[in-house]
Amino acid sequence: MGTVILGSGITGISAGYHLKNKSKDVVIYEKNDDWGGLCGNFTINGFRFDKFVHFSFATDEYIVNLFKKSADMYEHIPFPSNYYKGIWLRHPAQNNLAPLSSNEKTEIICDFVARPIKKLEEIKDYEEWLRVQYGNYFAENFPLKYTRKYWGVEAKELETKWVGKRMYTPELKQVLKGAFETQDECFYYAKVMKYPKKGGFRSILNNCREGLDIRFNKEVVHIDTTNKIIEFKDGTTAEYTRLISSLPLPEIVKMLDNVPEDVKKAAENLMHTSGYMVSLGFNKPDIAKHLWFYIYDEDILASRVYSPNLKSPDNVPEGCSSLQAEIFFSNKAKIPAADKVLENTINKLIEMGIFKEEDLIVKDIRFEKYANVIFDKDIYKNRALVLKYIQEQGIESIGRFGKWEYMWTHQAFDEGRKL
Ligand SMILES: Cc1cc2nc3c(=O)[nH]c(=O)nc-3n(C[C@H](O)[C@H](O)[C@H](O)COP(=O)(O)OP(=O)(O)OC[C@H]3O[C@@H](n4cnc5c(N)ncnc54)[C@H](O)[C@@H]3O)c2cc1C
Repeated sequence: MGTVILGSGITGISAGYHLKNKSKDVVIYEKNDDWGGLCGNFTINGFRFDKFVHFSFATDEYIVNLFKKSADMYEHIPFPSNYYKGIWLRHPAQNNLAPLSSNEKTEIICDFVARPIKKLEEIKDYEEWLRVQYGNYFAENFPLKYTRKYWGVEAKELETKWVGKRMYTPELKQVLKGAFETQDECFYYAKVMKYPKKGGFRSILNNCREGLDIRFNKEVVHIDTTNKIIEFKDGTTAEYTRLISSLPLPEIVKMLDNVPEDVKKAAENLMHTSGYMVSLGFNKPDIAKHLWFYIYDEDILASRVYSPNLKSPDNVPEGCSSLQAEIFFSNKAKIPAADKVLENTINKLIEMGIFKEEDLIVKDIRFEKYANVIFDKDIYKNRALVLKYIQEQGIESIGRFGKWEYMWTHQAFDEGRKL
């Protein structure tokens, strides 16, 4: 008996590391056969793929130093790109309109100038927020479409507190300058993105993971909070004195007995995206031209594509390159079959001129049930109700899906430290 942590993602690893440093006995139970959660990776014929694009933009000195101790890092300046109706625009698109037709530039700039002026507290949803920030034409053709692809919902269904500094709002001068010429300034919200030279993204945790007692293939299916016993899918059990969970809130609620109906309903109503990763390996070194790019066209299912080999050449065999496309759906949507998504992604990337069929030597598709938390209008009410109930059961719920929060890796890591 001792402290039990559920999940060996970055939150679970951080919690284990910090508790172990305080000489606590800790066991981590993980349903998969490897550690890392969303920070993890997989390798096919020498091509390593993270689970979705991952960089570290931690700034907290303590966290930066811990990650640095684990892995030597590349520092990338983020210059992502955008694909829109056959045209490539630097990111953010609203600052880099130069390649568009004069007609579209005129529409975008006129609507930007005529956009409604409103205070944040007067804005009722994300759609209105986008129209106020960018004007109607740009909002309708870029972020409103992208919201449908990335968040799997209409922007009017989302509230706005999550946006923070994630979206860039330009000044008229910048929009005009970018309509005439390519801008070299980096407008991304993180100015440097770090990535381990070796071993994929999860290597940032190598030191912290060392010596931790992680039990793999242990999927928790039931928690008896009265007797403090956890049951696993393989029929075994474990006792605990303290229980820390980084598992998704809707899953934890299903594992408990006698949950009140209002809590069950609130947990069911928590919205999230699920994501397919289409991972592609090529027999040539120069297929990937961008560290990552966004796709706005709605006939292309992929919303974002990044290059593992541009993150680090260690991710591919010598003389090769790779891409991973991300395709998201909300948990309320009908999710298409994997073979259809794979086919659409490969065919569309070929049509876009990214690669030729004969270049492709590895293709793979995988699914993650929990990708991003969706900030619909009821999130705060539902989340508060579920969290309060879980706390009352003596479970310390932490991490991206344990707190049900838009959390980057350094913030998830910080959750473990705060324990
Ligand atoms: C598309 C995408 C891109 C991202 N890009 C970045 C980025 O560039 N930079 C950045 O800093 N952050 C990024 N993030 C966020 C980052 O991935 C998360 O903040 C972080 O990985 C969350 O870690 P966690 O440990 O809280 O959750 P998870 O990684 O989900 O860990 C939970 C663990 O619990 C395990 N588990 C689940 N159910 C059970 C069960 N029943 N029994 C036992 N174990 C179970 C899972 O297998 C998993 O290992 C991105 C996220 C996504 C989805």
